[in-house]
Amino acid sequence: TKWVYSFGAGRNEGRADMRNLLGGKGANLAEMASIGLPVPPGFTITTEVCTAFYDNNRNYPAELTDQVKAGLTHIEQAVGLTFGDRHRPLLVSVRSGARVSMPGMMDTVLNLGLNDATVEGLSEMSGDPRFAWDSYRRFIQMYGSVVLGVDHHRFEEIIEAAKHDRGVVEDTALTAQDWHRVVAGYKDMVAAETGKPFPMDPAEQLWGAIGAVFGSWMNPRANTYRRLHDIPANWGTAVNVQAMVFGNMGNDCATGVCFTRDPSTGENVFYGEYLVNAQGEDVVAGIRTPQPMSQLRAKPGEVPMEEAMPQAYRELLDVRATLERHYKDMQDIEFTVQRNKLYMLQTRNGKRTAAASLRIAVEMANEGLIDRREAVLRVNPASLDQLLHPTLDPKAHRTLLSKGLPASPGAACGIVVFSADEAESRAQKGEAVILVRVETSPEDIHGMHAARGILTTRGGMTSHAAVVARGMGRPCVAGAGGISVDYGTQTLTAGGRTVNAGEVITLDGATGEVFLGTVPMIEPKLSGDFATLMQWADGFRRLKVRANAETPLDAETARKFGAEGIGLCRTEHMFFDPERIGAVRQMIMAADESGRRAALAKLLPFQRQDFVDLFRIMAGLPVTIRLLDPPLHEFLPHGDAELAEVAQALGTDTEAMRRRAIELAEANPMLGHRGCRLGVTFPEIYETQARAIFEGAIAVAKETGHAPVPEVMIPLVGTKPELDITRAQVERVAKAVFAETGVTLEYTVGTMIELPRAALIADRIAEVADFFSFGTNDLTQTTFGLSRDDAGKFLPTYVEQGILPKDPFVSLDIDGVGALVRIAAEKGRGTKKGLKLGICGEHGGDPASIFFCEEVGLDYVSCSPYRVPVARLAAAQAAL
Ligand code: PEP
Ligand code: MG
Repeated sequence: TKWVYSFGAGRNEGRADMRNLLGGKGANLAEMASIGLPVPPGFTITTEVCTAFYDNNRNYPAELTDQVKAGLTHIEQAVGLTFGDRHRPLLVSVRSGARVSMPGMMDTVLNLGLNDATVEGLSEMSGDPRFAWDSYRRFIQMYGSVVLGVDHHRFEEIIEAAKHDRGVVEDTALTAQDWHRVVAGYKDMVAAETGKPFPMDPAEQLWGAIGAVFGSWMNPRANTYRRLHDIPANWGTAVNVQAMVFGNMGNDCATGVCFTRDPSTGENVFYGEYLVNAQGEDVVAGIRTPQPMSQLRAKPGEVPMEEAMPQAYRELLDVRATLERHYKDMQDIEFTVQRNKLYMLQTRNGKRTAAASLRIAVEMANEGLIDRREAVLRVNPASLDQLLHPTLDPKAHRTLLSKGLPASPGAACGIVVFSADEAESRAQKGEAVILVRVETSPEDIHGMHAARGILTTRGGMTSHAAVVARGMGRPCVAGAGGISVDYGTQTLTAGGRTVNAGEVITLDGATGEVFLGTVPMIEPKLSGDFATLMQWADGFRRLKVRANAETPLDAETARKFGAEGIGLCRTEHMFFDPERIGAVRQMIMAADESGRRAALAKLLPFQRQDFVDLFRIMAGLPVTIRLLDPPLHEFLPHGDAELAEVAQALGTDTEAMRRRAIELAEANPMLGHRGCRLGVTFPEIYETQARAIFEGAIAVAKETGHAPVPEVMIPLVGTKPELDITRAQVERVAKAVFAETGVTLEYTVGTMIELPRAALIADRIAEVADFFSFGTNDLTQTTFGLSRDDAGKFLPTYVEQGILPKDPFVSLDIDGVGALVRIAAEKGRGTKKGLKLGICGEHGGDPASIFFCEEVGLDYVSCSPYRVPVARLAAAQAAL
């Protein structure tokens, strides 16, 4: 088996499309080398070695040693240096590289191959002993912490002591001799900490680093990251070994990280940061302040690379253009300049905010780099969520606390917490939290995920916090140097003000501002690139998209987001209003029909007005109104005051009401007296609602001249007679209202399919239904026998253990619930060709579920208003 693939110096055994085997980094290094970009030679140990390693009790395949040796020989010949040679030593970097980039794993060891002998060789070759000894101490430090597990503070203590002894503050003030002493101190400390001398044999160093990469694939942080991002453990990671190039050999050297377009906004400018005379880690570590690439982005006092290293910068601009033409996507690249010569160390499709993703897709299509179809496929529907959420109201009063970098856009407001664990536990209690850290590390991922926003006081636009927050869509302000954080007292201080843990702050990730207290927010604008992409998407989509809405506000939001109708108006939600709840309770608690009718008479005008409002807003678009489906317990009066109030309305006493409440209480309300069962037993309820619908529709028809077409929907049907009976009620009322008003309207009566029995006998139900709407919330509940209200206690464990791939209330269980949907669709259309089919459970806004709906041939999906754009885009992608 081939376990090792070389790249660079004319031997490119890999390609970009081999990322499964070579990992993202390795595949792209090979690709860059083969399109002629300057890549230092190296080799990639495949992800299959990682898998074999774990399958084989942590042992490597037998041929690996020889193949690694051959790979190393290729590097040696290419650069004319020898690994371990005391005069002309080859040094290498060792980096992990999974299919997708994964913070949380061992990342990088640089300068590997240095020891007490080769450091002298490096010193001679470079003519710079200080550089050689600095490199050596960096190597021991990195290898010591990453491979040998020594706490990095222990290294810092030794440097601090050295600086203290010499009476200097900056690392740069230390001389070759000083670093020499630091190295000696490091080695003693490592030996004491690990019980073994620091390895001097370069081969041992190399295998140690390779082992650390493979070992880190299963560490807890990597496991957490994989769980959060649905990355299977059996993908494995690759290891890349590459000849070192040095960005820290003097002022004609540099290293940097950049994006071919702005990853926050998507603007087509070269964007990034570099540092003169530095090694890769210095840029992300946030110790020195990185400088901008382009003159356009330089602030006073900053020295852009364009100015400091014009020649290398021009070369880099060419590389930028080549990479975009080649990959047809925005790239995130790492480079090093060694003595004015440019080297590329990495390229990958850059992580970006949702806004940038949209803009880049639209602009690349307009530039002709990709077509519109590709542009529509490029944007992750779920990420649109980020764009649809509010930003700070520019007119709102605010108290600025401090300002940092605008690392990830969006506004967030919440209580300050100082640790990831705290963020997670308080978020679980439903609190909005802002995670505040000096800087974040992969250990904080779970807290970043739980937080509404992230604030750091150190680090740049490519710091861990910034990159991860953008990927997650969390607003983030990074590097707010004016704020000091004290973990001990759990406070942050800026400009003389102190904020304690638990107090509220507001972040604006688009400007980098941090405010005291809550700042009001406003709705997003849905124009520009958003509108363009949505329009393209609409051109590809077959499924219609409707919204679940009952209030005028929801209906307006839904229309603004492009909903093509209302797929579910839950009338019981209209009954919670304080003005009405009394009458609703009265209706439920009434001992007989006349009591109910009295209460219903009070509700009728409210209901009629509700429908007038909805029909007006939806202006001729279809509106599906579901008749009452109350989980009874939510409406029963609680406590003496409420009981007394209902008693008075019904002309009885509190005790009688208490008895009635006990009588009505159900052991299992979700399977109780709800849905059409209510309409069957108390016909006056559905009759009143039907009257409100028809009277409302006629009023709007008269007012606007456009007659709405109400779609009346009967919930929780499990037998055909249930629909026969309730349909007849609706028809009777329609006839009566038409006779009374002299106006006749078109309308339809359909049913929800939300019980397995309904799905199984859908052919018979279809005889009396004008449409089906899949209520997949209840259908999931009843198919699994899993209570919607109680599943939260154990479902997470099921998902964690892989018993279920995802929460089935969020993403449709295609194998089980989906099978019932399929059966019902086929049987229903078997009876009535062209029977209109939709879905109105939560799944209607979930991209994976929408793909399924497309496959089954539903006519529309209906989801909450904010998810309408997500559904429009997902429906387009499903059709492509
Ligand atoms: C459903 O069950 O999927 C549905 C849409 O109805 P509700 O959530 O109101 O029960
Ligand atoms: Mg339901």
